[in-house]
Amino acid sequence: MVHSLYSDKDIFLRELISNASDALDKLRFEQLTRTDLAASDLHIRIDVDRTARTVSVSDNGIGMTRDEVVKNIGTIARSGTREFLTSISEAQKDAQTRNVPPELIGQFGVGFYSAFMVADRITLVSRRAGQTTATRWESTGDGSYTLAEAERPTQGTTVTLHLKPADPEHSEHGRDYTADHVLKDIVKRYSDFVTYPIRMQRWRDGDQPSDPKVLEDETLNSMKAIWDRPRGEVTDTEYKEFYRHVAHDWTDPLRSIPIKIEGTLEAYALLYIPGKAPFDLYSAEMKRGVQLYVKRVFVMDECKELMPTHLRFVRGVVDAHDLSLNVSREILQKDRQIPVIRKQLVKKVLATLEDMKRGKLDERSEELGGGDPAGSAGGAGGKAPRGIDDDYLAVWAAFGPVLKEGLLAFAAADKDKLLDLVVAHSTHAADKMASLDDYVSRMKEGQDAIYFLAGPSYEAIARSPLLEAFTAKGYEVLLFTDPVDELWLERASKFKDKPLTSISRGEVKLGSDDERKQAAEALDEKQKEFADLLAYFRVQLQDEVKEVRLSSRLTSSPVCLVSDEHDLTPRMQKMLEQLGQKPPRIKPILELNPAHPLLPKLHALFAANKADPRLATYAQVLLGQAHLADSGQLPDPAGFARALGDLMLHGV
Ligand code: ADP
Repeated sequence: MVHSLYSDKDIFLRELISNASDALDKLRFEQLTRTDLAASDLHIRIDVDRTARTVSVSDNGIGMTRDEVVKNIGTIARSGTREFLTSISEAQKDAQTRNVPPELIGQFGVGFYSAFMVADRITLVSRRAGQTTATRWESTGDGSYTLAEAERPTQGTTVTLHLKPADPEHSEHGRDYTADHVLKDIVKRYSDFVTYPIRMQRWRDGDQPSDPKVLEDETLNSMKAIWDRPRGEVTDTEYKEFYRHVAHDWTDPLRSIPIKIEGTLEAYALLYIPGKAPFDLYSAEMKRGVQLYVKRVFVMDECKELMPTHLRFVRGVVDAHDLSLNVSREILQKDRQIPVIRKQLVKKVLATLEDMKRGKLDERSEELGGGDPAGSAGGAGGKAPRGIDDDYLAVWAAFGPVLKEGLLAFAAADKDKLLDLVVAHSTHAADKMASLDDYVSRMKEGQDAIYFLAGPSYEAIARSPLLEAFTAKGYEVLLFTDPVDELWLERASKFKDKPLTSISRGEVKLGSDDERKQAAEALDEKQKEFADLLAYFRVQLQDEVKEVRLSSRLTSSPVCLVSDEHDLTPRMQKMLEQLGQKPPRIKPILELNPAHPLLPKLHALFAANKADPRLATYAQVLLGQAHLADSGQLPDPAGFARALGDLMLHGV
């Protein structure tokens, strides 16, 4: 078993540093109104005494009066903490689980008292800013404490942990918190972006080998949280570097999205649209979601609650100022702020994607190009319309199928915005993708639906016979090829009040009312003319097709397969089977082209001799042909080959 680099107990340091950082914030705030608090060089220090086995965390922040020490520290302020401590000692009575069960840590608010996970005695010395005396508090975490007067050269608080003995038998649990590298790692992980420097003393080798070693201060944290700096003050390189840090991806992101949420709650976020899909995008174990910080202190990786699954490719950080540091996953799910933040994030991400689709450059590029009303820097206005932006096509290629998952939910809040983002191949131009908006703007007079065809690949459907009548009428058809397409198209049903209609289902009715009437009458005529032949085919193919009828969608091909209006399509059936379900076997409908010269020929053959064995062979070959045009695959290749061979020998 591989042990994690980090231990659950490590968070004690995060908690103490966060308290120190809050105390420094409070001092800075009080300085705004009190000129007598002239403190400078605000910082946090970690000091280690290896011989005495102590670690202390100090700050020169606001400090506490004696009363405040009693109120805030002396009694266990939060009821959860007492339970937490009892549970720890219970758990630790059992010699086999000398470590703290991680679920306990998530379950309770931990705060200051979490230090008792690693220390058997804690001393706190605090001096309130503006006062001259300090207070010493000491406890072994058993519920009692001692108080005394003390001295402290400056305002602030020092918390000294008398560490429990390191346990050599449980090396991974008995981490040595007096080791520099252990402390440094923990600070880097949880407190890297804390606003104040976190310093630790270390020995530095002299320039010459003979030089004595000297003690110097080292700052452990970078303090560079770029998410709460205004966009204009951060360079592109900085954004990209930070992306590497959060996403562990060495390619550049396509967009950086800084977000500031103000009002009833305060949060900052820096999100990224990656340029390529991670290998595990469709795996349940994918590392996803954004990192969660609370006031620059790291709280958790992969915070799924802040991003819906259909945006799981978005990376970045969210810093929610009003959450508690001790939020656990369970608490997050119930927290009322989370949906509010999430809604804002989703809104901004979708708006960014929409901008990208429209070829609008990064907000900042626009700002830089500002003052130029013609928008030559690439703003949406002022430019001749052009195809979908290349960056967006890359996003769509990588994440389109994931975004479309959002359209599967029955009541997705952002459905309309997601529909706006959809682009697809189209019969309008072979080499250009089209958005639904593009499509609607090109709809013909009298056209009342958005027509689409879904299939396994562009090559397979771009030449489908089903397109013929639409091409003849000049109607554009969108071509969808992702496995998820049929499912969401089925549910989306409308875009801007125009129904999304599959051209492989039901009967096709194109043109004006008059045209439709005429076409229906003409088809009726033909239907009567060929009724006996159609009935014959129906009987011949009854095991394989639901119906044989004349088609109004073909102009040059002899046959095609379609689905009944409300039936599952063959691909949907396949998908359900892959999901382990057993959908009822649904037979397709075979349509014959009444205008094709083959039909009168077959009819003549039938009229001459209803028992002509070649008729059955024709039926098989026609069905095979329809299958090939539909999916490029035959349900019974050997049977088709045999029928074809027969035809060559005995054909008309
Ligand atoms: P929390 O920080 O979540 O409120 P803690 O148990 O960690 O809970 O701390 C309780 C209180 O003690 C804090 O709210 C704060 O008022 C006070 N406190 C803790 N550490 C410090 C410190 N370093 N400086 C000043 N006050 C502190």
